[in-house]
Amino acid sequence: MADILIVEDDKKINELILRTLSMMGHRGLPAFSGREALLALLGEQPDLILLDIGLPDMDGFLLMRRISEEYADIPVICVTARDEVPDRVKGLRGGAEDYIVKPFAMEELLARIQVVLRRFHKEQTIFNIRDIEVDLAGGIVKKAGHTIQLTNREFELLKVLLINKNIALSRERLLSLAWGMDFYGDDRTVDVHIRRLRQKLGMEEDIKTIFKYGYRLEM
Ligand code: CA
Repeated sequence: MADILIVEDDKKINELILRTLSMMGHRGLPAFSGREALLALLGEQPDLILLDIGLPDMDGFLLMRRISEEYADIPVICVTARDEVPDRVKGLRGGAEDYIVKPFAMEELLARIQVVLRRFHKEQTIFNIRDIEVDLAGGIVKKAGHTIQLTNREFELLKVLLINKNIALSRERLLSLAWGMDFYGDDRTVDVHIRRLRQKLGMEEDIKTIFKYGYRLEM
């Protein structure tokens, strides 16, 4: 999938992001300072840069401006602390594609990464699970070479599960991601659609039920 440079001086957060990204099939490249980030960019061509603004050795905004000038084709997502929030607009003006405020949920970070990768046409659009092939861009789902008809909602749900593969998603989260924030529904709505997806695609084993929580697509 994508190579992502993680510029974050907090070792624990860097490590956590790295692990989450690799679970999603991305390759994370850790950098713990501005200097390390610039060094990494000399040898690597990441698809995206996650940039913590609060760095020990450099002004994160200056670093971002430099990156957006020298590596204009690499999108940057800024990570800022809550007390730096007024700086967010400044961050976006300085060339960031998006920003995320600490502390953040990994799901949210992944969702934002996905959006930016899609915008830059760097995301994965074809997924294969055994004999199932899902073309997210084309909206086509095939099983053993045969097209399977899904409703729009089933397709959206499958897409959310694929993009967040190997991550447990709560029913509320699935509702908001696949149906939209303003949808009025309950947990059973999710259960019914998951059941249909499992039946239509034979994904009983792939879509795991997380007791009293939600679901996880394992692949
Ligand atoms: Ca920091």
